Amino acid sequence: MKRAQTLKKRVAANTAPLLPQELLRFPQLPDAFPDAILITDTQGNIAYVNPAWEKLTGYTFKEVSGKNPRFLKSEKTPNIVYKKLWHALTAGKLFRSEEITNRKKNGTEYSIRAVFFPIRYRGKNIYYAQVLNDITDRIKLEERLKESEKKYRDLMDKSSEGIIVYAADGHVVEVNRKICTMLGYTKKQMHTYYQNEINDPEDQKKNPLPLKDILAGKTIRNERLLVKKDGSRLPVELTAKLQPNGTIEILYRDISLRKKLEKQKDTFIGVAAHELKTPITSLKAYEQLMSKKLIALKLDDLINLNSRMNLQISRLTELIDDLLNVNRIASGRLELFKKKHDLNTTLHETVTELQPVLKTHKISIRGKVTKKISFDDKRIRQVLTNLLTNAVKYSPSANKVIISVDQYENVVQVGVKDFGFGIDTADQEKIFELFYRTTDKEESSISGFGLGLYIAAEIIKRHRGRLWVKSKKGRGSTFYFSLPR
Ligand code: ADP
Repeated sequence: MKRAQTLKKRVAANTAPLLPQELLRFPQLPDAFPDAILITDTQGNIAYVNPAWEKLTGYTFKEVSGKNPRFLKSEKTPNIVYKKLWHALTAGKLFRSEEITNRKKNGTEYSIRAVFFPIRYRGKNIYYAQVLNDITDRIKLEERLKESEKKYRDLMDKSSEGIIVYAADGHVVEVNRKICTMLGYTKKQMHTYYQNEINDPEDQKKNPLPLKDILAGKTIRNERLLVKKDGSRLPVELTAKLQPNGTIEILYRDISLRKKLEKQKDTFIGVAAHELKTPITSLKAYEQLMSKKLIALKLDDLINLNSRMNLQISRLTELIDDLLNVNRIASGRLELFKKKHDLNTTLHETVTELQPVLKTHKISIRGKVTKKISFDDKRIRQVLTNLLTNAVKYSPSANKVIISVDQYENVVQVGVKDFGFGIDTADQEKIFELFYRTTDKEESSISGFGLGLYIAAEIIKRHRGRLWVKSKKGRGSTFYFSLPR
C-alpha cells in the first residue's frame, strides 16, 4: 500500500523513472497488448480478460467474469494437456502449451498456443495468467499448404511421364508413380537414391547434365540411359528445370519404342544400301566395257548417251555411299584411321581429281601448312569433295572457288569460298542437320539429299575439329573446317 502511494506521488510529481514491474500496474498496458490475456484466481475463475481476448473469443469481460474458462473448451484438445497444465501451475511453474483448440461465442473454433504462469506474492500463487497466441490463420494456412501439396502429388502421380525431384546435391526428394513403374522400384526405394545411381555411368560420363545451366534457370532437354532395377537400360528423353524452392525437377519420357524403330530403320537402310551396291558395281563395270567398245566403233551418239549413263551411275554410287555413311554414324561405326599426313598433298590431289568433273569453276588454293598433322586422309578428302561440289553446285553463275589454308597456334583452318547463292542466317545452323535442305526456289531446282554436310560435320567432329559457315544471302558462302595440330 505504502509503495503504491509512493508511486502515485512520484507520478503526480512527475518524477519518473518507474521500475519496469511498476509499469504493469497501469491498466492501459495489458489493455493495449496485442495478444489475448486471461487471468483467473486460484480457484480457476476468470478475474480479468483484456480487449484482445474479448476480440478473439467474442465474449465480453462482463459475460465471463467469475466463470471457469472450461466453457471455452472444444473436444479437440486432449484432457492430458489440462492435467499437465494444472500440475505445473500449482507447482508454481510456467507452462507452454502446444496447440489448443477452443470455441468462440459464435461456436466457431480458434487455435492458440499459450504461456500459462502463476502470479506469485510472498511465495504463494495468487492468480494464474495466460497469454494466448492466436494461431488459427497459421493452422489454416498449413492445412491449405498440405492440401495443395497433396494436389501436386496427385497430379504428379497422374502424369504419363516419370518425374523425379532432386535436391541440389543430387539426392531424390520426390518421385511419382510412373517413374517407379518405368524403373521397377518402389517409391520408398527410390527415395534413398542419388541421381548418379539411376543414370547409366558411361552414358553419364559421355553426356553429363549441365548442372550449372540448370541452376542458372535454363531448361535442359537431353536423351539418356537410365538403369532399371533388373540392371537393364531404359532410353529416356528428359527435361530438367530448376524449381522456385531450389530443387530440380526432371521429367522422363520413355523413348524405347522410338529407339527400337530408329534401329530398325537404320538396319533397313544399311541392308538396302549394301544390297544395292553389288548390282551398281556390276553396272559400272558393264558401262566401262561398253564405253571402250563404243569408242572403238566411233559411235559418237551412243558414246554421248553412255557418258550420261555413267554420270547417273556415279551419282547413284555416291548416294548409296552417303546412306551407308549416315548408317555408320547412327550406329557409331564411322571409324577413323588417323595418321600424320601432309594436308597440302591431300588438298592438291583432291582438287586435281575433282577439277575435270567441276569443269565450270577454277579451283585455286591459297596458303599452306608447314608441318604434317594427324587425320584420316580418306575422310578429309570426302569432306573436301563435299564442300567443293556444293560450292560449284550452289554458284551456277560464278566461275571460281577459292580454298584457303591458315595455321594457328592449335589448329589448322581450311576455308572453301564460293560466289554463289549464299545462305540465310536462319538456315546457317540447320544445314548441318541430317536431310536438311534450304527451301529457296533457286536451290530447290538443284538435286540433293541433305546428307553431305551432315556427314562432313560428323567426320570433322570425330577429328575434334569444327565445321562452320560464314555467308550472306546473295553474296556467296565460305565453309570452314578446323583440325587440331
Ligand atoms: P545437298 O547438297 O545434297 O542438299 P548438303 O548436306 O551438302 O546436301 O547441303 C545441305 C543444304 O545446304 C543444301 O541443300 C543447300 O541448301 C545448302 N548449301 C550447302 N552448301 C551450300 C553452298 N556452298 N551455298 C549455298 N547453299 C549451300
